[in-house]
Amino acid sequence: MLLQVLGTAAGGGIPQWNCACPGCSGARAHPGRRRRHASLAVRADEGRWYLVNATPDIGDQIEAHPVLHPGPGPRQTPIAGVVLTDAELDHTLGIGRLREADRLEVLATTPVREAVDVRLRLGAVLTPYTALTWRELRCRGTQPLHAGTDVPAGCGVRISAVPVSGKRPRYAADAPGDDAWVVALRLYDPATGGTALYAPAVAAWSEALHQAAAEADCVIVDGTFWDDEEPRRTGISPRTATGMGHLPIDGPGGTAGILATLSARCLYTHLNNTNPLVDPAAPQHKRLARLGLEVAEDGMVIEL
Ligand SMILES: [Zn+2]
Repeated sequence: MLLQVLGTAAGGGIPQWNCACPGCSGARAHPGRRRRHASLAVRADEGRWYLVNATPDIGDQIEAHPVLHPGPGPRQTPIAGVVLTDAELDHTLGIGRLREADRLEVLATTPVREAVDVRLRLGAVLTPYTALTWRELRCRGTQPLHAGTDVPAGCGVRISAVPVSGKRPRYAADAPGDDAWVVALRLYDPATGGTALYAPAVAAWSEALHQAAAEADCVIVDGTFWDDEEPRRTGISPRTATGMGHLPIDGPGGTAGILATLSARCLYTHLNNTNPLVDPAAPQHKRLARLGLEVAEDGMVIEL
């Protein structure tokens, strides 16, 4: 299984267009510190890729990664579809950017599909442009990432969703409750036995999530905030990190202490521009390294 990291920033990206915080200013002064919205490309089988979340940066993310470039036919693309981990705007707006596709498959849980299809009306809006087809992302059992009949039995990456929280996007705040609003993805390659867990938004470390992480070879986790007080301290929100639906990395109940006990290779993604880790010189990088933990970088390739 091949994972191509397309972006590692939380909503807004780094730099965020209207933000002059030290993280964003630093990224303007040093382009190497720029991070696009968190996203991943997964090779489902030979030459066929799925994007995990479609961000506002999707066009640039595709251009920056030659494995996702079209060809040899004039409109032949290796991108077969998109998998959504939630219905947040930063993870879904890129679907509209892909409207030139002949067809596009979107895998999502039922509440996420309804939010995107009914509330955002993306299905109706895109119908005159492309054929959007939906496939249910199930939380029970595994299913093939690519469900085509041309994949030989026993081949191709399999996927399952692990429910993480019922946190709805603000535009669907009054939608019915369900714990499949935010999910983590478990990706398994039967050919190599490799398993990855991708969890870019983690509000609570559940037993189910822990079990999935304990069984994985590589775990890519929500690193939005370094500590719980960061959103309040930096003035971006009156809420704590946990209150905003993101377990912090450091401190009591933080994810670093949990990930350090796992045998998997563990990386953080979805960094907010207030997170000290966006500065390569920050001492927090050494703290993570001592625990054997990494920060994912845009462009990174992970083979499992
Ligand atoms: Zn900023």
